[in-house]
Amino acid sequence: MNTIEPKNVSSKTPPREAPLVVVKIGGAAGIDFAPLACDAAAVIRAGQRLTIVHGGSDATNTLSQRLGREPTFITSPSGHTSRRTDRETLEIFQMACRGIVNQSLVRHLLLAGVDAVGLSGLDARLWSGPRKAAVRAIEEGRVRIIRDDYTGAVERVDPRVLHALLDNHFTPVISPPAISEALEPINVDADRAAAQTAIALGAHTLVLLSNVPGVLRSFGDEDSIIRCVLRSGIGSLDEVAQGRMKNKVLAAREALEGGVSRVIIGDARVPHPLSMALEGAGTVFA
Ligand code: ADP
Repeated sequence: MNTIEPKNVSSKTPPREAPLVVVKIGGAAGIDFAPLACDAAAVIRAGQRLTIVHGGSDATNTLSQRLGREPTFITSPSGHTSRRTDRETLEIFQMACRGIVNQSLVRHLLLAGVDAVGLSGLDARLWSGPRKAAVRAIEEGRVRIIRDDYTGAVERVDPRVLHALLDNHFTPVISPPAISEALEPINVDADRAAAQTAIALGAHTLVLLSNVPGVLRSFGDEDSIIRCVLRSGIGSLDEVAQGRMKNKVLAAREALEGGVSRVIIGDARVPHPLSMALEGAGTVFA
């Protein structure tokens, strides 16, 4: 039988007081975990501690289609688009995030020699917040109230389980869902959950890696990247950051307001995505 021996980096793990970075890896298509995992191992060897957060949007769409269910999205009256998460979609979302994306990412990290541990926001009530009692959606020009949606937002992060792992030189890898006050799984935005996690852990940097080089002034033109945004100027991005980029900018704002020193929106598709982002490639918020 062929076996792959993991290159264990734990003998060179950073001390407990080493700087802490929270990195969120996008759930969109086209992101290769192998180079990301090798780069994460290099960052840990260089003396930083990592907590990794990921989403699962593309995996949820793919699994849903394989199960014969077309993914459905709803648009709020303010123009925000989100996944319609009824009970069955919630289960598919859980399978995709935890069963597919989380375990694949953990496996790649283990192969790169990182002692990665996968967990969801539901475990140990790590990510909790209210489930929306009603979701408003625009359908054929009219507002429809949806009451069976399992969505919400992370309002509290209990970092104890993360500290327990980090103190023992494990690298936590966190996937949605979060857990509601009534202890139901809820679909949450992973960028904003990553921001709350960085705040709760006292991380100095939050990195949001996606399938774009950063925030683009002119969407579609990768040369139009905005290099640096001061916290006083985040409001000026309201016009350029459209669609799902809005949540990343909001996450950046929340992290800075919560005491994180630096947020970087960087490219997950390059050979050394995390190292490059930490060196300032992408859009840096400070
Ligand atoms: P992920 O799943 O990787 O977290 P999202 O799909 O949630 O990423 O958000 C990134 C997407 O935001 C990009 O793929 C792009 O389609 C969209 N986007 C909208 N406006 C911008 C912009 N100004 N600059 C960059 N990306 C943008």
